[in-house]
Amino acid sequence: MGKVALVTGGARGIGKSIVLELAKSGYDICINYNNSCDEANKLVLEVKKLNVKCICVKCDVSKENEVDNMFNIIESKLGGCDIVINNAGIDLPNLFQNKTVEEFKKTLDVNLIGAFIVSKRCYKYMYEKKWGRIINISSTNGINSYYPMCIDYDASKAALISLTHNLAIQFAPFINVNCICPGFIGTENELKDYDEDFLKVELDKIMVHRFGDPLEVAKLVKFLVSDDANYINNTIIRIDGGQYGSC
Ligand code: NAP
Repeated sequence: MGKVALVTGGARGIGKSIVLELAKSGYDICINYNNSCDEANKLVLEVKKLNVKCICVKCDVSKENEVDNMFNIIESKLGGCDIVINNAGIDLPNLFQNKTVEEFKKTLDVNLIGAFIVSKRCYKYMYEKKWGRIINISSTNGINSYYPMCIDYDASKAALISLTHNLAIQFAPFINVNCICPGFIGTENELKDYDEDFLKVELDKIMVHRFGDPLEVAKLVKFLVSDDANYINNTIIRIDGGQYGSC
């Protein structure tokens, strides 16, 4: 049986590119979605044309019972889960003075606790199988790109880096856990959510002077889960075109 990959938040944006790239490499896929039901079902049909198995499961990654149910479905329909891409994330920009504790907690719940719940649930299967890969999708906002309007998002992504290191220790020696920090990736959402002035300022911060393509992140994920990356573990990799002032 082929390896099975779960991509959280896989129905759109960067997650969708990861789903397609992994499917093209022959992995069976579980697309997790929360709200994007139509997109997820359409993507299942697209992925199945690539001659791999594919299911989609609705689940809010911040809810332990829903994650447990999702893994039960994966185990019964696909046999288990060898690769987890913790990609689901939210960003609720708001002026610092208006940012509520509820917003802050929600962001942490999805971006950080969600990755913890999903990783914890796949531990036993991967450990017994003596093989596994976990990739956490953090952000350069988790390293040194800060916006007070996204104070909760930036904190969640920094904490996801810390989570990666602890997971790598816990999951050793059979399972590699790595973290990818994208810079500005030009997903449909990302480009339509911001005004032109903001986009120009962001563009000028990037040495290659363009936004990233979701496919570029997906190709990095594909490499990190492959056997070519067997010796890459517990690493934080930026993919941001080079940001001035960062290293
Ligand atoms: P996006 O287009 O906003 O998509 C977010 C995804 O997360 C959606 O598929 C959404 O699923 C899912 N999601 C949100 N809340 C969820 C929940 N509670 N349970 C399950 N899934 C949930 O974002 P994106 O730009 O593709 O970003 C993907 C990841 O990369 C995120 O973690 C983001 O923080 C990170 N990132 C993005 C950029 C960028 O420039 N785009 C840069 C750095 C890091 P539904 O639609 O089904 O609700």
